[in-house]
Amino acid sequence: VQAGFRNDFTSLLEQIGTGKESLIFMKKRIRRLSSQWILATYKLQQKLKLTWREQKKILVHIGFLTEESGDVFSPKVLKGGPLGEMVQWADILSSLYVLGHSLKISVSLKELQSFLGVPPGRGSCPLTGALPFDIIYTDYHGLQQMKQHMGLSFKKYKCHIRVIDTFGTEPAYNHEEYATLHGYRTNWGYWNLNPLQYMTMFPHTPDNSFMGFVSEELNATESESIMLNKVNNVAVVYGKEASMWKEKEKFLQILNKFMEIHGTVYYETQRPPEVPAFVKNHGLLPQNELQQLLRKAKLFIGFGFPYEGPAPLEAIANGCIFLQPRFNPPRSSLNHEFFRGKPTSREVSSQHPYAEKFIGKPHVWTVNYNNSLEFETAVKTILKTKVKPYIPYEYTCEGMLERVHAYIQHQDFCIPALSLVSSNSTRKYSQIHNTSTPFIFLPNSTGLIWSPDSSRPHSWPPVTSLQVWVSAEEQSCIEACQNVGLICEPLFFKFINKKELFQQLKVACETVEFEVNHLYPAFAEKARDCYLQKEALLYSCAGYNAKYRRICPCRDYRSGQIALCKDCL
Ligand code: UDP
Repeated sequence: VQAGFRNDFTSLLEQIGTGKESLIFMKKRIRRLSSQWILATYKLQQKLKLTWREQKKILVHIGFLTEESGDVFSPKVLKGGPLGEMVQWADILSSLYVLGHSLKISVSLKELQSFLGVPPGRGSCPLTGALPFDIIYTDYHGLQQMKQHMGLSFKKYKCHIRVIDTFGTEPAYNHEEYATLHGYRTNWGYWNLNPLQYMTMFPHTPDNSFMGFVSEELNATESESIMLNKVNNVAVVYGKEASMWKEKEKFLQILNKFMEIHGTVYYETQRPPEVPAFVKNHGLLPQNELQQLLRKAKLFIGFGFPYEGPAPLEAIANGCIFLQPRFNPPRSSLNHEFFRGKPTSREVSSQHPYAEKFIGKPHVWTVNYNNSLEFETAVKTILKTKVKPYIPYEYTCEGMLERVHAYIQHQDFCIPALSLVSSNSTRKYSQIHNTSTPFIFLPNSTGLIWSPDSSRPHSWPPVTSLQVWVSAEEQSCIEACQNVGLICEPLFFKFINKKELFQQLKVACETVEFEVNHLYPAFAEKARDCYLQKEALLYSCAGYNAKYRRICPCRDYRSGQIALCKDCL
């Protein structure tokens, strides 16, 4: 069946239950953004013209909101607890809905079981019939519940699942045996999914799919009136929980010399002691009122926590400049409590690395807060800097719809994994060349030997967007591709994981081995050892090691939309 775009949200809102604060928050957001979603569908429709869009049967099971997982979030919605996840789920529901798919939504184990056709109760039973869905969106809690209650059917159907995973899961942590053997075992990972089945809030690593969320958009008139009505000395502090303000008085004092400081910190009856008296605290605001405050403000300032939330994008969308601390050394699961146990070794270089790296100046200023002078100088410069409201295209409704549409129509993780290697093989290459600088390798012009599967008609992204680059030592493929204005594409590893490749790249190999290591394909330059990947699940854009130069499959991307290659729509 062809999916038809929808432009009336009534039935979606009816479908989302009620009662819980979290659901109320999501429904308010969906309602508030509905006209912006509808406008985006018109734009996407024009872009796609008559492209066939198959209507998929989709289940959305929001595990963290189920009583069975403890639902710790709902009671905190009005008390300064995290809202980012709810923002994202609301936007995912809106996207799937306006794209016209057939949608079921569950926020309890009972609903999950009834939708799946699993007998109710605590036990683990296989499905009574075939899986009644093409795609299931859930989170780590939901994944656990499905595993517990679907019996043998879980393994059979897990290729249909997409896991909404804020911080991302890197391949080394996802592969159960590898994670266990090499110290990558955490509370979350080891599900042996295709790493692209994890969908993140920001484009952390291209090993996962970037799902994202949206920022509220302004039309030209609104944008202009915001610029006119900005109060140049108003600063809003990022952080709705009092604990985020602890020991920040020093910065607030400096800031207060130049600006009127506003906060939106939750409190019960009294002003929290962490919030100095000179701060105007509004208490936790409903999202629409926060938007109004941001429209007036010049500066949105972060003090280091929370990490990687939606609020800085909202501030920038409303014409604020975002000032945030640089983390030096960067924080990660290896050195920082908050990230410990998260299935990634990603290094977080500031409070909001996406804002730092993908947006940057003049909208985003990332400075060393340990140096008061640097901090003060930044504030003074910001006061003199003019900016316009800005939303990265990938965080607009059109951008999100375009991306979700492409994923739904093209991603298929149920195709049996291509078998990689038939046997361990070693081969000597006599010629030794020096390759000290990364160089470009275009498969078509230089005639890489393609295996028959590479020309399969369903290859998505199309393999024509592939460029092979060699990383420096101690550099990941994420970085190597980024450095040349491209993005690492994990789906292309299968095309380049071939012995001939080293020859094509004129890499000097004494030996070529197939091994299980998330950094392969790669080579050790000094030792002249070359390695290919033996385990498809471990193809990884993330990861580096001083010993290896990695072989990286990079691709182009659409302007403002790194998830999609130029020919990917
Ligand atoms: N927010 C809100 N009222 C406030 C402060 C924040 O509704 O007073 C919303 C904000 O619009 C944003 C969401 O809370 O969309 C999540 O914000 P944050 O970046 O703090 O991320 P979190 O840590 O909550 O996931």
